[in-house]
Amino acid sequence: MIEHDWVIHGGRVIDPANNIDDQLDLGIKEGRISFLAKSAKLSCAKRSFDARGKVVVPGLIDLHFHGYEHATPLGVPVDHYCLGRGVTTAVDAGSSGCSTFPGFRFFLSQACQTRLLAFLNISSAGLAFALLGGDSTTPGELGLIGLVDLKNCVECIESNRDLIVGVKIRLSKSLADNGKNEAESYQRALEAARAVNLPLMVHHTLSTIPLEDCPGKMDQGDIYTHTYHGYHSTIVQASNRQLDPVVWAARQKGILFDVGHGQGSFNWTVAELSLNQGFKPSTISTDLHSGTCEGPAYDLPMVMTKFLHLGLSLTEIINLTTNEPARAIGWEDRLGTLGIGREADITVLSVDDIAMDLEDCHSQKRSIEQKITPCAVWRQGESAKITSPLCCPNPSTIERQRNSWEQAEVKDLQPPR
Ligand SMILES: [Zn+2]
Repeated sequence: MIEHDWVIHGGRVIDPANNIDDQLDLGIKEGRISFLAKSAKLSCAKRSFDARGKVVVPGLIDLHFHGYEHATPLGVPVDHYCLGRGVTTAVDAGSSGCSTFPGFRFFLSQACQTRLLAFLNISSAGLAFALLGGDSTTPGELGLIGLVDLKNCVECIESNRDLIVGVKIRLSKSLADNGKNEAESYQRALEAARAVNLPLMVHHTLSTIPLEDCPGKMDQGDIYTHTYHGYHSTIVQASNRQLDPVVWAARQKGILFDVGHGQGSFNWTVAELSLNQGFKPSTISTDLHSGTCEGPAYDLPMVMTKFLHLGLSLTEIINLTTNEPARAIGWEDRLGTLGIGREADITVLSVDDIAMDLEDCHSQKRSIEQKITPCAVWRQGESAKITSPLCCPNPSTIERQRNSWEQAEVKDLQPPR
């Protein structure tokens, strides 16, 4: 009889990749899943966790995160905001470029307990000077075309394929010398991604590039993030509040649409209009960074909570935060499910009835009735401490974000209270 290091017993196990939704016990031994069946003898475990009334899922994956703390203004402490919230794998979305990736590997990826992967920014500087608040006199990472270094980006990826899972570009007029460098930078990013045969993740907000070209020129498997923002470049046409037909064509072609909530990219109105027209996300992610980690995004379970309110089922939401992000980066053989013998990355969540208002990036609010909260987490079989937001809803970030409502092209008909 095997002695398990842990048995997580009595929970509702949801593993969409394997079509499992059942009350099961799960065993962990030497960092791997050793048992998954109706009932394990608790006497065969060194330690046990009572998951009755809770949901046991594969370790959550956040496909859009910013963790390059101390080297980029947007970086946040990885384990506190990821593992502490049930996220066992986070993918940093372009905080580093080829010049700054060695530090990312050495100081961060090797130092945190969360599995930290990366999309490499097409700009060699990554987000080293991505200041919060975006002063228009500060150059963005595409401000000098010489920073958009296709050759060295490709070389860096080829030498770091264990951690780099794709290429990232931020397309915004203000980041590209008043739009002058946008088209050329986008072209180079597409070329880099094709050269290494990995997905390109694109941020497309307040851009000079029309939807016909972005997502229009992206390929199958590429990832369009910030799907539900309401600024210029939004996927919803302001004139008739219908999704732009170009976006449907892009989905048909196999382009993935990621949430990437962030500080400015989740708008209740845009999300409701899109979902009512049947346009669901391909993956749910936070775009967590220093401007949004204590609201309005908070963490991945809170962003999942917003999609529960929007009418996605719990199983769909788990699928979009485990199996689908693993597939998006081509890691489905290692991540996102609970097979026996796999690394024991496991998250326990609770789904509780609640009555609270939850804000988007413009301080527009909705009354939610159920909330998803992390209760326990294991990474490679080691249990880690759960952390929580300082304050949610957070009045100070709600106040700070209120002014951004004016600039949105698609939004509620009345300004936020
Ligand atoms: Zn981001």
